[in-house]
Amino acid sequence: MIKNAEFIKSSAKVSDCPDGKYPEFAFTGRSNVGKSSLINFLTQRKKLAKTSATPGKTKLINHFLVNDSWYLVDLPGYGYAKVSKKERSGFGALIEKYILERKNLLTLFVLIDVNIPPQSSDLSFINWLGVNAVPFSIIYTKTDKSPQKNVSQNLKRFHNEMLKTWETLPPEFMSSVKKKAGGEEILKYVEELVVKKVV
Ligand code: GDP
Repeated sequence: MIKNAEFIKSSAKVSDCPDGKYPEFAFTGRSNVGKSSLINFLTQRKKLAKTSATPGKTKLINHFLVNDSWYLVDLPGYGYAKVSKKERSGFGALIEKYILERKNLLTLFVLIDVNIPPQSSDLSFINWLGVNAVPFSIIYTKTDKSPQKNVSQNLKRFHNEMLKTWETLPPEFMSSVKKKAGGEEILKYVEELVVKKVV
């Protein structure tokens, strides 16, 4: 359970992030996937993460300290950034650098909207994580939005796509902020990893 969540800072560069003395869990996904809503739901705070009215607005790395024991990190989304020369694979230079360099990152939560068929930007991002051996889990969002049949179908299609390149599937969670579902499972997973691993 989250007893308290405190905003620490927003960073425009990886080197500006707070020192890595706590284990850290970061959240990312394509814009509008429901990331801010999920962070606010998990932390039981209405406006901890700002819901983005403008797609792709959040370009900063936001650190929150939870229960005085781990960092919850609100990362910029991927998939909307225009690929510039500086960017290595087009997911955004800042997020790529953060993911590759942040030593205390225990797990990256990749949010996937389960109401739509598998998107190539999500699949290529996940494959990029695999190539770089980044530990990640998937949170399927907005499970309340479509009929259960469609949700199951999209989930199956996503699994099939991943199994083209992965031998096993990563840990996964189903969530609906509207139905207040999935939060406990995600936090239990986080807390188990925090207990196991002291950075
Ligand atoms: P972000 O851009 O990833 O931070 O996404 P937001 O949290 O701003 O959410 C994008 C849109 O999805 C908003 O209109 C939310 O109200 C909606 N949304 C977020 N979570 C859910 C959910 O669990 N169910 C439904 N039906 N809509 C959601």
